[in-house]
Amino acid sequence: MSGQQKMKLAVLTSGGDSAGMNAVVRSVVRAGILKGCETWIVREGYEGLVRGNVDAQNVNKDPPTIPLPLNGADADLINNLRFGDGELLLDGTGDHPGGRTLIGRYIVRVGWDDVRGWFAQGGTLIGTARSTAFRTVEGRLAAAYNLIKEGIDALVVCGGDGSLTGADVFRSEWPKLIAELRSQGKDMFLPPIARHGHLKIVGLVGSIDNDMSMTDLTIGAPTALHRICEAIDNINSTAASHSRAFVLEVMGRHCGWLALLAGVSAGADFIFIPERPPETNPWEDEMCDAIKRHRKVGKRKTIVIVAEGAHDSLLQPIRAEYVKDVLTDRLGLDTRVTTLGHTQRGGRPCAFDRILPTLQGVEAVNALLEATPEKPSYMIGIRENKITRVPLMEAVAMTRAVADAIAAKDFTKAMSLRDPEFCESLDGFFSTAALYKEKQLPESKRMRVAIMHMGAPAGGMNAATRAAVRYCIRQGHTPIAIHNGFRGLLNDNIHELSWLGVDNWTARGGSELGTNRTLPDVDLGAVAARFQEHNFHALLMIGGFEAFSALMILENGRQYYPAFHIPMVHLPATLSNNVPLTEFSLGSDTSLNALVDACDSIKQSASASRNRVFVVETQGGKCGYLATMGALATGASLVYTPEHGMNLDTLRADVRFLKRRYGLDAKGRSEGRLVIRNETASSVYTTDVVTKMFKEEGGDLFDSRSASLGHTLQGGIPSPMDRARAVRLSLKCMAFLERYHDELQKQPSKVKQAEPESAAVITIQGSTIKWVPVKDMVQHADMKNRRGKTAWWGDIKDLVEALVGRPQLT
Ligand code: ATP
Repeated sequence: MSGQQKMKLAVLTSGGDSAGMNAVVRSVVRAGILKGCETWIVREGYEGLVRGNVDAQNVNKDPPTIPLPLNGADADLINNLRFGDGELLLDGTGDHPGGRTLIGRYIVRVGWDDVRGWFAQGGTLIGTARSTAFRTVEGRLAAAYNLIKEGIDALVVCGGDGSLTGADVFRSEWPKLIAELRSQGKDMFLPPIARHGHLKIVGLVGSIDNDMSMTDLTIGAPTALHRICEAIDNINSTAASHSRAFVLEVMGRHCGWLALLAGVSAGADFIFIPERPPETNPWEDEMCDAIKRHRKVGKRKTIVIVAEGAHDSLLQPIRAEYVKDVLTDRLGLDTRVTTLGHTQRGGRPCAFDRILPTLQGVEAVNALLEATPEKPSYMIGIRENKITRVPLMEAVAMTRAVADAIAAKDFTKAMSLRDPEFCESLDGFFSTAALYKEKQLPESKRMRVAIMHMGAPAGGMNAATRAAVRYCIRQGHTPIAIHNGFRGLLNDNIHELSWLGVDNWTARGGSELGTNRTLPDVDLGAVAARFQEHNFHALLMIGGFEAFSALMILENGRQYYPAFHIPMVHLPATLSNNVPLTEFSLGSDTSLNALVDACDSIKQSASASRNRVFVVETQGGKCGYLATMGALATGASLVYTPEHGMNLDTLRADVRFLKRRYGLDAKGRSEGRLVIRNETASSVYTTDVVTKMFKEEGGDLFDSRSASLGHTLQGGIPSPMDRARAVRLSLKCMAFLERYHDELQKQPSKVKQAEPESAAVITIQGSTIKWVPVKDMVQHADMKNRRGKTAWWGDIKDLVEALVGRPQLT
């Protein structure tokens, strides 16, 4: 930004708090500093803007500037970093334990270290509020005055649709507010007002309900879903023990996302959401019939989820207590109600609620730097795996339109305004929860579907299998489990799966089918014979790189064995996330969460005793995904991956960085820092070597220890995100198999010829889900290192290190 005036940017959190808001503040502050901006926080949301600073003379001293004495290309940049005193954490009184009083100060200049360690904290440390004053022109005039007084010309607002509406109102009104300040003669007390003709605003959506349109996810929603699923998983065992029914009320006034995703991820029997009330009215029979069917096949527990804003098709509210009465009176079930309430908001953010706000915070700063009066204000969103910018008001208007459509009882419209993922999840729920046999396909379209797990166990494998089995049964297909991979197939370890048999599989980690790494070329002819003998019409393989390799072998084998002329799909599931082209595999989110949990504890212990650097070793084979994204989610100082490798130059620079960083820490405080190292990052600079090196070099400044997370990273219970994604992708796989099976049936000859496209891998690429024929995958695969040739997270290592202030090597 040389030659230009520094952008002064402030960040505030508003509306209901959500997990991940602290990560937003950290990311905006640090990305802002890295881009040469001056950074501020506004306490207590818009209320803080309206109140401003009582004593403008004595407050907002710049935090101490500590130049980092670095050499190299990044020295200029890093020397300009401003390090605060790291004492911004407030206690309940608005003051803070360190003595830097903030009473009467709502707009506070912050530095680099003020936002240290904010990742693991729930809620928002800078406070949030619902401000009546900001809804008035007078309030917004005061807010404008207070911002200009501090010279702030850019604002990041993190909140729900109300907060973002407020942001847009503020921006569009801005010229009028300035004119009014001038007419009141206030401009003479302000810094040159000319540069404030345009207020730059960007919105980030912090909302646990996931109720904003034009983005797949809002910050805080994944953590809330974690809390709900944990509760349901706990309730499941007691419900089954006593054969009880439980009715759970979850948050969501206008949006059923939490209820829906919890229903899909935790395997509920029935859900009530505002966008899609029960089809019939009165609805009691519909619910009771569904639950009776489940009980009839032997189900011992019943879970019904009710969104806070649920209602029937005439907009009459549906309350949890009433649902309980219906289940008790009509079905004679021993029924209990559990209202989760504010437990859904609280707690440590899950991995995704650290990664998403970090990436979005960086994007928000970029959007502010590129803002012009002609461009609209943007909201930063996400589509599948792509961070997006969308016009803020369009997103708010679309969100409002959903509520309007519901109020007008136009539920078809309400659903059409929700994101495709929402609608797919709803289909997924109906396909996997309901036990219908009356809508089955005609005999000629039915398939015998073989399902197999391959490679190491990964979270979500069982949920994907359950979804496929339930879908098969609904359609009239026969789901057949192949236990223990191709070895199991050769040993005839095969059996038909039932609706009830897979009921509890969503929450189970590991692999219920059993899995190993044996490829079909161990005896391809015998494998083909088994396919023929069991009359498989389709194959679903759930697994990692081995499943991809196996699919290649089977597709290639089609030239010799007619039994392989059936549709075959690979659904990637591996914690390493090393399947080429796809940006996510099932299990990778579960592992990231296991890593985050472990690192939070390690960091706490590292800080508790003395300055300590913990070198944490992760799994991942030759793929650095888990290490890199884990480092982003934990705020690690350094990350070592096989893709980037390790050498003496980087290690020397890393030691220098750690020494300087510890040298700059506030005296008397002990700090723990994390270094994450993939197990194969280097065969020479092992975890042990690196740990000893840091210990030796740390001298009096810091100590070093190591921890190897090993198989704990396979995670226990799969994360809700992995479960929900498993259901969605598995059902897409089933539709794919049906489509190619139908095409094969149309071929006149008895000997069918499957096209190469019918052996494919389902992938997530950017904002879309794509089918890639296995033949085409090969060119994207690094077979020697068992990973893709390109890694979308490659640049994230630089971001991780930038956000802790490590200079990049030239
Ligand atoms: P949640 O999703 O948790 O309800 P929200 O951001 O939607 O979050 P709201 O209470 O609707 O929460 O809005 C938060 C604040 O945003 C309000 O207290 C108010 O200060 C401001 N705000 C909302 N709507 C407007 C508006 N139309 N004009 C000005 N300010 C507004």
